[in-house]
Amino acid sequence: MEAIQDFFTNLRPILNLLATIIGAYLVLLWAASVLWAYRDIRMRSDNISVQVLAVSIVLLIPFAGIPIHLILRPPQTLAEKYERSLEDEYLRRDLEEKFVCPSCQRPIEHDFIICPHCHTELRRRCQACNRVVDLTWTICPYCGDDGTTGLLRQSYLRQPQLPRETQPVEAASVARSPQIRGS
Ligand SMILES: [Zn+2]
Ligand SMILES: [Zn+2]
Repeated sequence: MEAIQDFFTNLRPILNLLATIIGAYLVLLWAASVLWAYRDIRMRSDNISVQVLAVSIVLLIPFAGIPIHLILRPPQTLAEKYERSLEDEYLRRDLEEKFVCPSCQRPIEHDFIICPHCHTELRRRCQACNRVVDLTWTICPYCGDDGTTGLLRQSYLRQPQLPRETQPVEAASVARSPQIRGS
């Protein structure tokens, strides 16, 4: 019987130490949860009273305050809200003005080649098939012309740089039709 009592007497300091460690751990956890709640609410609201309320709940109701905070906090962070508003704005603008001139921002029709307001070149005509194509496209999607036809035609007329034997021919064609160049 005494042996058992001795055993518990010896065990007491160890139990005390264990209790202290667990207590310290819980206090640390509680402090960390308060810090987390503070950071979380600052990301979700810039209203001071809302921030104070959220931190007080987690501070005054240790641990049980966290689920309450999770239920009551604003569902979106401020960054998410801002992103959503930007998206809405873009969507609205897209619907309102489908086509605007990239230079002067005035409305244009989708098939315009040149802006009628500021004369910016919006599109070009394919040199081979004469259809309207995007300025950034390197190849015509309608006829497969990659621009070499047009370039060749331009180089014929601007400055002949072709093999010597063809020069007289194209020089003659330039002489015959000096006004063909471009479109
Ligand atoms: Zn314009
Ligand atoms: Zn073409």
